[in-house]
Amino acid sequence: MRVSRSFLPVLKESPTDAQIVSHKLMLRAGLVRQTAAGIYAWLPIGFRVLKKIEQIVREEQDRASAIELLMPTLQSADLWRQSGRYDAYGPEMLRIKDRHEREMLYGPTNEEMITSLFRDEVKSYRDLPRTLYHIQWKFRDEVRPRFGVMRGREFLMKDAYSFDLDEAGARQSYYTQLLAYLRTFQRMGIRAVPMKAASGPIGGDLSHEFIVLAPTGESEVFYDASFEEFDWHQDELRYGDAEGLRGLFDKVSSTYAATDETHDEARWAEVPADRQRQGRGIEVGHIFYFGTKYSASLGLKVSGADGSMVTPEMGSYGIGVSRLVGAIIEASHDDNGIIWPEAVAPWKVGLVTMRGDDAASVTAADDIYAKLTAAGVETLYDDRDERGGVKLGSMDLIGLPWQLIIGPRGLAAGVVELKNRRTGEREELSIDSALERLTA
Ligand code: ATP
Ligand code: MG
Repeated sequence: MRVSRSFLPVLKESPTDAQIVSHKLMLRAGLVRQTAAGIYAWLPIGFRVLKKIEQIVREEQDRASAIELLMPTLQSADLWRQSGRYDAYGPEMLRIKDRHEREMLYGPTNEEMITSLFRDEVKSYRDLPRTLYHIQWKFRDEVRPRFGVMRGREFLMKDAYSFDLDEAGARQSYYTQLLAYLRTFQRMGIRAVPMKAASGPIGGDLSHEFIVLAPTGESEVFYDASFEEFDWHQDELRYGDAEGLRGLFDKVSSTYAATDETHDEARWAEVPADRQRQGRGIEVGHIFYFGTKYSASLGLKVSGADGSMVTPEMGSYGIGVSRLVGAIIEASHDDNGIIWPEAVAPWKVGLVTMRGDDAASVTAADDIYAKLTAAGVETLYDDRDERGGVKLGSMDLIGLPWQLIIGPRGLAAGVVELKNRRTGEREELSIDSALERLTA
């Protein structure tokens, strides 16, 4: 994309209405704009990142055999009356009346809807197990929307729901999502540590929150540094391998990680001091086994192998897709701006001409831009006739992994400059070698 023809508003001043660094940077670099309290428009850069994150979530859900569908944002109150949650949910739920005075709501989550859809179509044990998911906007009328997209009122969530015939099956579905989550976050270039969450309405050990470490996080967290070293993408960990998944769960459970709600001083003391990591964290995902709470209240039953009727066991699995944009920035930035992990970067390369009024630079940069684009390398080309320093400053702020800098002096000597945004390393090389590097 050419900056001269795009819509990339960058703020020179640091916004005073933002308290945390990711929110400030998202406003300054032009990722989002607030349109009402806790509600944001996603400008081109922010939208590209959001889609990248969404796509990684989707691919990892698909690999774990979860099935994608799409449920609407608006739901009928009747559905929620059946589960008893219409009254229980409280003021976080945005309630709406349509022109016929029918009570509706903007979905804060979808347990009721997925259970009723599944109930109406599935009659036999042969159709289980299944895990269904969608990636859809939610609305929660948070008391205190804050920190930008991190705690918005409207936000994008991936929510998956599993249906199994018994608890053993539900555990397998849970372990499967556990692995999918570990892989999802690792691919995004962040460490999200699974922490045993305060157990839900039915107790048990099957509730984990995935937490990214950041000083501005809302909860205090404690974990064993081993979590920073695990590689969840190894081949030995296969979906469908019940033993392997069970082993994964045991490994996760036996490696210390807890929020202040579940922290256990005695167990913490057993973690060697040099492996103790403590700080604040942001919840980016939450997985949860809740048994028959919704299947029972909404009348979901299937016939079992022996002819008896079975009420399926369920779990739900959420990822805060829009919150992740902020969380990744919290975990990856410096004084000059954002540093995107390559997998979620809005573009891979920022191409900059130091002198937009120098014909040779423009010709060379146009040609490089055409070649990178043809090779499928996502490139943001700052072709404006602006001071070079200003353009480099906004490239640092936007935080693309690579900057390719074209200046008249270098060109005369046959070289361009390639800068790595994370390490700050700069290297002079020929145009051909630069292209080779970036297209490799
Ligand atoms: P929190 O404790 O942060 O309020 P929650 O426990 O209510 O979150 P869940 O119902 O578990 O949230 O939702 C799944 C995921 O959706 C969370 O892990 C989080 O990443 C994201 N999420 C929840 N509320 C918001 C919000 N107001 N803004 C952005 N993302 C959110
Ligand atoms: Mg939660």
